[in-house]
Amino acid sequence: MLGKRKNGTKTGKSLNLVLWFCFSLFAIAVVLIFIVVQNALVDRHYRKKTVEKLETAGAELSDKITPSTDGQDALKVIVEAYKNYGVTGYLIDSDGQSLFPDWTDQKSYPALAEVLKKELSGGRDSVTFSDGNTLTYAIEIPFGGQNCYLCVMSSLESLTRLEEGMGQISLIMVLVTIVLSFVASGFVAVLVTKPVNEVTARAKQLARGDYSLDFKEHYFCREINELSETLDYACTEMSKAEKIQQELIANVSHDFKTPLTMIKAYASMIREISGDDKEKRDAHAKIIIDESDRLTALVVDLLDISKIRAGFDEEERTVFNLSEEVYRVAGRFDYLKETAGYTILTEAEDDLYVFANRARIEQVLYNLIGNAVNYTGEDKTVQVKLFRNGENSRFEVVDSGKGIKQEEISTIWDRYYRSSETHKRPVKGTGLGLSIVKGILEAHGYPFGVESEEGKGSTFWVEFFSAPAEEGAKREAAEEPAKKSVRKKKEKMSSGDRNDS
Ligand code: ADP
Repeated sequence: MLGKRKNGTKTGKSLNLVLWFCFSLFAIAVVLIFIVVQNALVDRHYRKKTVEKLETAGAELSDKITPSTDGQDALKVIVEAYKNYGVTGYLIDSDGQSLFPDWTDQKSYPALAEVLKKELSGGRDSVTFSDGNTLTYAIEIPFGGQNCYLCVMSSLESLTRLEEGMGQISLIMVLVTIVLSFVASGFVAVLVTKPVNEVTARAKQLARGDYSLDFKEHYFCREINELSETLDYACTEMSKAEKIQQELIANVSHDFKTPLTMIKAYASMIREISGDDKEKRDAHAKIIIDESDRLTALVVDLLDISKIRAGFDEEERTVFNLSEEVYRVAGRFDYLKETAGYTILTEAEDDLYVFANRARIEQVLYNLIGNAVNYTGEDKTVQVKLFRNGENSRFEVVDSGKGIKQEEISTIWDRYYRSSETHKRPVKGTGLGLSIVKGILEAHGYPFGVESEEGKGSTFWVEFFSAPAEEGAKREAAEEPAKKSVRKKKEKMSSGDRNDS
């Protein structure tokens, strides 16, 4: 039965109905096959036994009725055969004239005689034939100076009666089967549909946003348990996603609110107080510019996160020289050497190549080095390393800062995680940096992590899968010089952009 929902989608047939239909069909098919096979076997067996009986009786009669046997004795033999085997014997001459017994009323069987003559002419000495109601066995014997046909006949009435009886039993069996399949299918349907209905009801609740559900109930059926576990997993993930979304909105709103409030406040101050005082006005305008930069950085990071979540294009991956990239990105922090007395020690093994999204890897390196600069200790020193590590190229950024508490190590990669302590940083951060790093490295499948000891500092590391250097060198050589210089210019510009921010 096909139901229709209000929105027009078909709800499909009820499982109960399908089960009942399948069960009944299967049971009836089995019963019918059984009946057909049984009838065929019984029919064959009965006929075979009857033929055997006719042959035995026929052989006995043909032995006892000789050319010299007189009528009375022949009659006696025939009566005996009826008594012993339940078969009726009679003798006809070659013209079909009945000779024995006389109760055959001297009937004439010319057609039968003709057929027998033909059948027995080719060297066969006996023939069996049936007219539907009887089965007859005939042999040719000499009697009364001529060739005669001795026929022994048995009725097939019992077979017909047996078949009729079996037909009735079959009908009863079909009816009983239908009733039983109805009961069995109902039982199975309840067994299967009950948990399915339960899981469906909970899934609907889940769709409505109720994450307090528990799908872990144990059902008898493995598939339903798997479905239930999958929904449970979906429920946990959805609730996590919603929590993250809510936190993100709350954090983003908060982070937007602070600079916006500042911008408004300082703009008002310029209008009302410092408008004519160049020094004050410049100081206030600088705050407005700084806060706008903060907002811009936040928006850029949020866009990056959403892009990384959507998955970046595999085609954007190329083989490039990671060693050069590390020097280039570390070089972008050089301005801190002069302006804030930082030391950035970069040591990269030559010509280590990777197959990756170059712009994204640059972002990873920038964020990790930027964090190390932000959180390093009083010696203001950061070490940046890249070296061959077996099949991989290992990148490490070591700082001498306070380190990260063990319980915080797993959470720092989460979106918007920020250590509870406020920290003065030379490089601006939005609290999204490590989350972006994680997203990019996971998309590439590179292992990464952090080793940190409180009071001593942290080492953030990434294992890049190395690409064959020859391939990278070939690609670089193939790049047109013009294209290369354009790329270099772009890189210079983008590094300038970041430095400015
Ligand atoms: P942000 O640095 O802008 O706050 P990140 O996502 O880059 O955001 O870092 C998340 C948090 O991880 C930081 O707030 C800080 O608590 C911690 N963290 C990151 N890098 C370091 C580091 N090198 N040393 C100590 N703590 C760090």
